[in-house]
Amino acid sequence: MKMKMKKLLAAMLACAMLASFAACSSSEDKPAADNKPAETTEKTEDKKEETKKDDTTAAELPAIGVTIYKYDDNFMTYTRKAMENAAKDVAVLNLNDSQNDQTKQLEQIDVLINQGVKALIINLVDPSNAPVVAEKAKAANIPVVFVNKEYPEGTDKIDYDKCVYVGTTSEESGIIQGQLILDAWNANKETWDKNGDGKLQYVMLMGEVGHPDAEARTKYSIQTLNDNGVETQELANQSATWDTAKAKDLMDTWLVKFPTEIEAVICNNDGMAMGAIESLKGAGYFADGKYMPVFGVDALPEALDLIEAGEMAGTVLNDPLNQGKACVELAANYAAGKDPLEGTSWKLDETKAVRVPYQAITIDNLDVAREAYGN
Ligand code: BGC
Ligand code: CA
Repeated sequence: MKMKMKKLLAAMLACAMLASFAACSSSEDKPAADNKPAETTEKTEDKKEETKKDDTTAAELPAIGVTIYKYDDNFMTYTRKAMENAAKDVAVLNLNDSQNDQTKQLEQIDVLINQGVKALIINLVDPSNAPVVAEKAKAANIPVVFVNKEYPEGTDKIDYDKCVYVGTTSEESGIIQGQLILDAWNANKETWDKNGDGKLQYVMLMGEVGHPDAEARTKYSIQTLNDNGVETQELANQSATWDTAKAKDLMDTWLVKFPTEIEAVICNNDGMAMGAIESLKGAGYFADGKYMPVFGVDALPEALDLIEAGEMAGTVLNDPLNQGKACVELAANYAAGKDPLEGTSWKLDETKAVRVPYQAITIDNLDVAREAYGN
């Protein structure tokens, strides 16, 4: 805490001394409309302190254009914050909220390119649009780091040498979630198997259709259970597009349709698990011995609190800190004309992707997840 205050004070002092408004505020959390054009921010950057990582004197921080598919996404908000932290003293981020609109995002990318950003970090709206973005960037010779939404055919299939992907191995989250459900089912079968048929009757809340994470989590969570001898029966499976409110509505409907049949709620992310739990609470669950196991992915701080309260059974850490850090480090290298991995500990796999590992989170290791979310 003390350290934070000190840092804050030092930063404020530096801002005042330089009287350089744009430089100090440019990497702060601001709506896209407030972002200064790259030209403006660049001009002010040369006044910044010279205590940069690079030993080039009076290093000018490179401008990196960033688009986030929508700011109204729990997990991407944490990833964006991690990017901003990683960018301090390294680059000036020009952040844009694409508001879940691919056309808007392509326009934002055109603007960023025209402003002369030195690299792009792109969280696509529609993952299948990666080649379209790469083509624009290639024409302007600007490198691209895609993040979180992976081109389904693989980043190595995109016709541009200066583009990489930062994210995870999607299947891994499904397998880990399946393993969590498997262990919990085996330990609690007597009470969880409500109809005593030995099978797990579940409902699935899916993320965006066509999103590699959503597709893989849906498939591999169940496959892991089945491969390990647990028979399953899907009562319902529908996309709530990662969204808490939509998940609550769907769960409301399912609780009416299957008032006693549901034995577990499997969610592609915690945001939707939170919605399902809200709905379940409304129906009297988590009180007077009425229980429903709910599983998610991400390990959002809100979900960790629910696990602690006994209202969520488990989640899978999707590490925003390291994903945010990796994409800034790679983009900053690219911006400096270097190999994207230079001086970093990241590795690219054969599909040109940096893959940050997932981790199972239960009541026993909440602290691991708290750290990855910076609290
Ligand atoms: C996260 C989701 C998030 C999505 C956005 C996934 O990796 O688990 O919570 O909504 O990315 O693309
Ligand atoms: Ca059953």
